[in-house]
Amino acid sequence: MKLRTFTIGGIHPAENKLTASSPIIGMELPREAVIPFAQHIGAPAACLLKKGDTVRRGDLIASASGFVSANVHSPISGTVAKIDKGTTAAGYRTDTITIVASDADHEADSASVSIPAQILRNEAQLEALTPEEIVAIVHEAGIVGLGGATFPTKVKLSPPPGMTADILIINAVECEPFLTNDHALMLEAPTEIISGVRMLMKAAKVDKAVIAIEANKPDAIALLTDVAAKIDGRIEVMPLKVKYPQGGEKQLIEAVTGREVPSGALPIAAGAIVQNVATAYAVWRAAALGEPLIDRVITVTGPELRKPGNYRVALGTPLRMLIEMAGGIPENTGKVILGGPMMGKAIVKLDAPTMKGVSGLLILPMEQARRPKTEPCIRCGECVTACPMGLEPYLIATLSRFSRWEDAEAEKIMNCIECGSCSFACPSSRPILDFIRLGKSTVGAAIRARAQQPNK
Ligand code: SF4
Ligand code: SF4
Repeated sequence: MKLRTFTIGGIHPAENKLTASSPIIGMELPREAVIPFAQHIGAPAACLLKKGDTVRRGDLIASASGFVSANVHSPISGTVAKIDKGTTAAGYRTDTITIVASDADHEADSASVSIPAQILRNEAQLEALTPEEIVAIVHEAGIVGLGGATFPTKVKLSPPPGMTADILIINAVECEPFLTNDHALMLEAPTEIISGVRMLMKAAKVDKAVIAIEANKPDAIALLTDVAAKIDGRIEVMPLKVKYPQGGEKQLIEAVTGREVPSGALPIAAGAIVQNVATAYAVWRAAALGEPLIDRVITVTGPELRKPGNYRVALGTPLRMLIEMAGGIPENTGKVILGGPMMGKAIVKLDAPTMKGVSGLLILPMEQARRPKTEPCIRCGECVTACPMGLEPYLIATLSRFSRWEDAEAEKIMNCIECGSCSFACPSSRPILDFIRLGKSTVGAAIRARAQQPNK
């Protein structure tokens, strides 16, 4: 059978799925959790607590402060030790709250996570939920896109007036090398995922859903196909060709529906709503168990790591604890990356907290972390061939390098999805994506400033 995929560009990096057959291991709760109020795209959540207040695991600690924002909950029980500025793993300064658990809090929380969660709503009660009730549950639980984009899920389920979707696409592609957290989740919780997909379908008011999975996960494809067929015939599991970046929203929509999302438009313009598979699972947990988003599955991996694996981690846990759980940092470590090797960013602070958008930690040895020497551009066009957005990466990188922002905007720099395919394909090892990222931040700021100017 010919597998579907997107048509423009794409590359084939080594998959390196070292943890593909690793079951999910629950990680010990931290004694101290640092929780940023900005863990999502949009306005930071507004703090509801003050120093000295006590909270229980799962309590709301900061509320969404606008339409594009998300609630934040406490991942542990304890006392608010401080509310101040902290540094995220990517190096951004942001407002945070620090919760410290007493021995009694820690013991009680640890005991509660080791017993099966109480069902709040059974299948019949889930079935009876209205679209509005599902959207409200998603909002209350602080659910955001768990594929990395962290866009508030409620917003995606509330399309602009006049725009409707006819298909929900569940992104279970996991095309980023090394990462297997979604794969592990599909093997562990297929029934719960299908239940979450059904709720998302109802909330999005669509009668068709496709769960798209790259063909390198045949066990997950077989399992979900079987479970979906038994529960809901409107849900199709679609294997896709292994090609990076198959999980990019526009590439995924094209592969599944054959439709093109217009330049600069949202997926809904092509009649599609895309949600990550872990987001569907989080929706089930929120609706069926009454659990807000306070933990997630993360792949901790690397060629020299002693115990690479897929771990269920409480948000707010220091990243250093995850690495210790995976056997400690290997001696010749050259780089620690948040996410995968293609789209991830080097970590500047190992004591930074786990956040909603963290899907993986990749520890690379020195020899793999070093960048090859940059050579002059030989005009080979490999970066153009690789670009899935149809851009001319060498050109927009050069325009950005020479601060020619208006020209970079005219060459559609903002359409770049930062997939890194151009840098990967370049035989001269040019830092194409670095320059494009720089240009995107400057051009993006100029566009936002223009939008705020009153019309003349
Ligand atoms: S990083 Fe941007 S310019 Fe480079 S291949 Fe991806 S979309 Fe194209
Ligand atoms: S792939 Fe590298 S060398 Fe080839 S055109 Fe692009 S930037 Fe130049």
